Amino acid sequence: MKLCRFNDHRLGVVEGDVVRDVTEALSVLPQHRYPLPAHDPLIAGLADVLGAIKSLSDTLTHRLHEVTLLSPVANPGKLVAAPVNYQAHLDEAIADEATFSRANVRRIQETGLFLKATSSLIGVGESIRLSHEDRRTDHEVELAVIIGRDCRDATVADALSYVAGYSIGLDITIRGPEERSLRKSLDTYSVLGPWMVTADAFGDPGGHAMTLEIDGASRQVANTKDLILGVPELIVFASAWYTLRPGDVIFTGTPEGVGPIAPGQTLTASIEGIGALSMAVLSGA
Ligand code: MN
Repeated sequence: MKLCRFNDHRLGVVEGDVVRDVTEALSVLPQHRYPLPAHDPLIAGLADVLGAIKSLSDTLTHRLHEVTLLSPVANPGKLVAAPVNYQAHLDEAIADEATFSRANVRRIQETGLFLKATSSLIGVGESIRLSHEDRRTDHEVELAVIIGRDCRDATVADALSYVAGYSIGLDITIRGPEERSLRKSLDTYSVLGPWMVTADAFGDPGGHAMTLEIDGASRQVANTKDLILGVPELIVFASAWYTLRPGDVIFTGTPEGVGPIAPGQTLTASIEGIGALSMAVLSGA
């Protein structure tokens, strides 16, 4: 199932080019009072919500192109991200002075993971707004994994059982010497969408083609089978350091072909089994 959030925080099921409004199913979620939970309530209660969706009848529908898509996760506790996690991108990063001038271009097993600020997250209905425009800003398309239940010390064998679903992730990045968490956490520099495909519908995450184009010109063409640490291994790695909670997102790393983006361009990305997104790149000024 393709589950989206749209317009004024409505919940939808995407079927072809139609969005079915299933917001009523959210009524099965617990009503929270301060202090709010440290996870995303929709993802934590996903099984109940999916059950409620099945019993809805006479839902309103919208044309997909007429709704504004929000991030499929409203309140992630953390955005975990993998640094260089494709061999060809590691080779490219080492060869490029803009990226290799930093000491932290190393194998992912040595670098570990980093965090992006949750305040940087947008859905595909918004635009990427560039900041610090005198600096080089690059696109990175990545498979994004949405964690479905509390996960600590996962094993490779059980890691995928913690996954609620998958989205396309964009990890927009200013190049330069500062910490990754700073250069990748500007407002609008994390994109999740266009919707979440539930884990059962997505299947094995290790064999999905992905593309990214700028103004129709191909930049990134890759397949998740070439991840150095695959999705199970990333969940094992991350959950050995901190508890993953429902709604936490793991950006799995970008393949080769990263390059600069500029205001006025249109970024298009796709991942097999999820779909495609298209967004404007604008000046933040
Ligand atoms: Mn990245």
